[in-house]
Amino acid sequence: MTPAPIDQKLRGELRALLGPKVRFEEPMRSHTSFHIGGPAQIWAEPANPQVLLSLLGLARQNGLPVTPVGGGANLLVADDGIPGLVIHPAGPGFQGLTRTESGLRVGAGVSIEKLIRATLREGLAGVEFLAGVPGKMGGAIRMNAGTHDEEGVVRSISDAADAITTVGAEGRTQTLSNREADFRYRSSGLAGQIVTEAHLSLSPDDPSAIEGRVKALWALKRRTQDWTAPSAGCIFKNPAPGAPAAGWMIDRAGLKGFRVGGAMVSPIHANFMINCGNASARDVFALIDEAAGRVEKMFQVRLELEVQVLPRDGGSHDSLA
Ligand SMILES: Cc1cc2nc3c(=O)[nH]c(=O)nc-3n(C[C@H](O)[C@H](O)[C@H](O)COP(=O)(O)OP(=O)(O)OC[C@H]3O[C@@H](n4cnc5c(N)ncnc54)[C@H](O)[C@@H]3O)c2cc1C
Repeated sequence: MTPAPIDQKLRGELRALLGPKVRFEEPMRSHTSFHIGGPAQIWAEPANPQVLLSLLGLARQNGLPVTPVGGGANLLVADDGIPGLVIHPAGPGFQGLTRTESGLRVGAGVSIEKLIRATLREGLAGVEFLAGVPGKMGGAIRMNAGTHDEEGVVRSISDAADAITTVGAEGRTQTLSNREADFRYRSSGLAGQIVTEAHLSLSPDDPSAIEGRVKALWALKRRTQDWTAPSAGCIFKNPAPGAPAAGWMIDRAGLKGFRVGGAMVSPIHANFMINCGNASARDVFALIDEAAGRVEKMFQVRLELEVQVLPRDGGSHDSLA
């Protein structure tokens, strides 16, 4: 569906609120690690939570759908792009990183890399397992990002996040407890909310011990994941603990190196799909359908997407609608 055009009045209001931090028809391939995606109808970078609230007010008055985007490291954006307002909360008011009695308060726009550096500087342990996970705090909270720690135990940011501040489309700011955020495996109950900051509960530890763990995990990631080409990380969630991993099943289905157009199942990690240079979202959707279909036939397992498809209805790709 073609989105309604943005009229001059709304363009003026957006420019008055955001100055140069609003752009129209902004190519999403510049904002995703996959380097894939059509244009965001409106790309907005609010400076702080107050500007975000005004922006959401404009969205409500004009009936615009709202989509938050962080580092774009877990996104597959449709070739037709994203209608409405795409909000990137990464301005100065979302960059806070402050020490508290029990850990760190972290703004939604802080990169995971910067967070890890802060934990080393402050000697605070508890999120080392996030080392090497690309993206920003808001996206990591929404996705409940995580990985296996150095002992092979599955760890997620929800192990440390004890307060999450969000703004809803209706403009209500609230701070949720860990339980209220309804964290699940690579997911949370925060869809429809924009995370503005979160508090992480961390324990004091020797910075060199933390650094040792960070380096080991980072090296493990470099060895086992595919860092050779643009991707969005794992395409599918792993099925329930104890069941074979999604990548293992895709590999067994003979798909490592399988290609559709410019998209390929990574020859290194079969749950990664990579952009060989000119992939379209349509190519990736076709590869997803192929992998999911073959795995279901061979293992009777229905794989579920981990990658977030935007817009949420999959754009013009019917099978994800
Ligand atoms: C090479 C590679 C390796 C990866 N390895 C891992 C890994 O080991 N473990 C792991 O968990 N992930 C991994 N990922 C995926 C990705 O890094 C994580 O999901 C990360 O948390 C995404 O953060 P982001 O800021 O990029 O979110 P985005 O990709 O921008 O967005 C992801 C989702 O969060 C929503 N969102 C973004 N910002 C906000 C906000 N402020 N408020 C509310 N919702 C928001 C978006 O609408 C979307 O639904 C990997 C990705 C790559 C490319």
